[in-house]
Amino acid sequence: MIRRDTIQTIIETARIEEVIGDFVSLKKRGANYLGLCPFHNEKTPSFSVSPSKGIYKCFGCGKAGNVVNFVMEHEHYNYPEALKYLANRYGIEVEEEEVTPEMKRELDERESMFAVNDFVTRYFHQNLLQSGEGKSVGLSYLKERGFLESTIEKFQLGYALDKRDDYSKHAIKNGYKKEILVKTGLTIDKNDFLIDRFRGRVIFPIHNLTGKVIGFGGRILSSEKSTAKYINSPDSDIYNKSKVLYGIYFARNAIVKENNCYLVEGYTDVISLHQAGIENVVASSGTSLTVDQIKLIKRYTPNITILYDGDPAGIKASFRGIDLILEQGMNVKIVLFPEGEDPDSYARSHRTSEVQEFIKKQATDFIKFKTNLMMGETAGDPTGRAALIKEIVNTIAQIPDGINRAVYIKECSTVLDIPEQTLMNELNKTLRRKFRKQSRPQEDIPLPVETVKPVQELIEIDPLDVSGYEKQIMQFILRFAYHTIVVNEDEQDKEWQVVDFIIYDFNRDHIKFENPVYNKILNEYVLASDEGRRLEDKYFTFHEDQDIVQTVIGLLAEPYQLSENWKKYKIYPKKGEEDMVEYFYSYILPLKSRLISKELRKIMDLLKTTDDESEMYLLQQQYYELKKIANMLDERRHRIFNH
Ligand code: ZN
Repeated sequence: MIRRDTIQTIIETARIEEVIGDFVSLKKRGANYLGLCPFHNEKTPSFSVSPSKGIYKCFGCGKAGNVVNFVMEHEHYNYPEALKYLANRYGIEVEEEEVTPEMKRELDERESMFAVNDFVTRYFHQNLLQSGEGKSVGLSYLKERGFLESTIEKFQLGYALDKRDDYSKHAIKNGYKKEILVKTGLTIDKNDFLIDRFRGRVIFPIHNLTGKVIGFGGRILSSEKSTAKYINSPDSDIYNKSKVLYGIYFARNAIVKENNCYLVEGYTDVISLHQAGIENVVASSGTSLTVDQIKLIKRYTPNITILYDGDPAGIKASFRGIDLILEQGMNVKIVLFPEGEDPDSYARSHRTSEVQEFIKKQATDFIKFKTNLMMGETAGDPTGRAALIKEIVNTIAQIPDGINRAVYIKECSTVLDIPEQTLMNELNKTLRRKFRKQSRPQEDIPLPVETVKPVQELIEIDPLDVSGYEKQIMQFILRFAYHTIVVNEDEQDKEWQVVDFIIYDFNRDHIKFENPVYNKILNEYVLASDEGRRLEDKYFTFHEDQDIVQTVIGLLAEPYQLSENWKKYKIYPKKGEEDMVEYFYSYILPLKSRLISKELRKIMDLLKTTDDESEMYLLQQQYYELKKIANMLDERRHRIFNH
């Protein structure tokens, strides 16, 4: 563990514009720097770095964070790795802290597992290149597939001899513990007899994001029918099949660069494409695609292209998995290889440029692909066609973004030759069903109905929505927390620190933000105020609670300006810091009246449903209390803005 004070030094020393400047060419624009976003492809710069706030934000793709986040995101480092990188950049000595014996035992055990995997990987590799069996069986197979020596090196391919306990014995002889071998799954312990899990197989080591070997895949070459062609390491403390993608360590930089991830089926597909110079490719080996794997890809790109060999049955079987990708808000394209070909064979028999050209030309949007494929199957079959429409609409319903859904509905209406509104009605039905399934049965909340309308009108405005006001108030607090203001109440002027006044004002009227993260932030101010501490921006942008970090960065990154709401509600306070009280009230008062209106509405609903007289009485009491506060707020608002 890196010591807390070392972390503090690193955070205080690292200058965000310098660190990002190592990777992105930045131009000064006023107080900030501007450059081309390294996280998405763009031609005009929308990536902004603020040295004073210590944050970056891309107004194109929305990526935002502090200097540590940047290094983590850009270099794909974990938190300690990113801190060490920054320490190294600024010549700060990293002091590490003692860990508890329990933590140490766990860390040691994981380290030992990595170490034994590394040792055995090298042994497998040596077998492949030097042993008689390895050369005649393993190496000749790989050469036959056209793999170059450099490729075999890069992926650390190897061979496990066809013996009962060859590598287990070898590892133990070299000081590795039996328990650790068993824990990694390399060795099976049968009543104290050790058996190698991989025997007589070509070995494909599986790497994690930092390049460490966490598991193995093994392919048998004999044509015996009794054993599986491929076997994998079982899940262990360091290897979780459903969270790993084969090849991700070698592919991640290319995925970011190409802003696209190719998904293939097998180890050899990944390796062949890499050898052909196409490196943004991974495989979900040993499992069907999982949500965790999709999220792993999503860290690098929102675009997935699935490369299939030309087997329609296999493709249809994978449609479910693709709905999962859509549900994550990602864009999916499909490339179908000619019959009898897979990405591996195609890459071997064609030049790189031909492969690239082929993928580019064939890539079809998934929903279009699915529609076309199923159209062919249901030609002249009305029942089948009705089922097809339901199926396609169901797929579109997985897409989280309403505007994207509308675009797909439009396209499919053309392809299917069905009126847009008919598809939209079907979509609304599906969305409602989906929504009900997610919420508890008694909460039958009506869902806004999607209609065929221009995009802007899709966004409905709730008259009691308070998010805009809350946001302005939160921005106000972050910006002016420790400014002094003079508040006139009860005919008396009193000096306040902004944040203290807000805490007092919230308490007095018993109000809370609806946004739970804002409440957490305000609570941090309350605690700090009690202890006489001042909170700077960095306190939040480096907070351990990631919700706080992302929220504060989002608020700080937005230009501070008169809100549209001011005009909407005919509030025109004077600009400038001397009018902060007015500024604050211009948001707090409408926020409070809306929160109260919501409460009042709730009470009215309860009144309608109760027959119990004493409960009715209580509710009426509450109603009048709230009404009184609402009237008082109205008065206060008039006093402040109409003098
Ligand atoms: Zn961007």
